[in-house]
Amino acid sequence: MVKCKLCNQDMSKSDSCSKNKRIIYLDGSRLPAIKFKSPTIKDLELSIKKFENPNFTKSLRKKLTGNMQATIEIMKKNPNTKQRCHDCNVINGGFHHNGCDEEICPRCKGQLITCRCKKKSI
Ligand SMILES: [Zn+2]
Ligand SMILES: [Zn+2]
Ligand SMILES: [Zn+2]
Repeated sequence: MVKCKLCNQDMSKSDSCSKNKRIIYLDGSRLPAIKFKSPTIKDLELSIKKFENPNFTKSLRKKLTGNMQATIEIMKKNPNTKQRCHDCNVINGGFHHNGCDEEICPRCKGQLITCRCKKKSI
């Protein structure tokens, strides 16, 4: 069981973070956090396209995109399927838990845990 440092909930059992609603930067500015949006088949197909790189071998590509392809198959069978966040497990429209690698920085729109906006650490 992994607990979120912010809301103290078990990430595998909670649908949304109750605390991670705004991002505080070192300069004191605050921006509303971006909620998790369940990817559509189109989003997934676009992500898979990004791996169509001649430098990747077929087997590597399969390894990298296999999960997404499986998800597409599930969604085609049941179009109402909403995926949970693969990292922190929140539902569509929920706030990510602290440190989730899917969370998007509201300032630069990059990956929040690796971007250079100097988010205030908690
Ligand atoms: Zn997440
Ligand atoms: Zn949380
Ligand atoms: Zn950023």
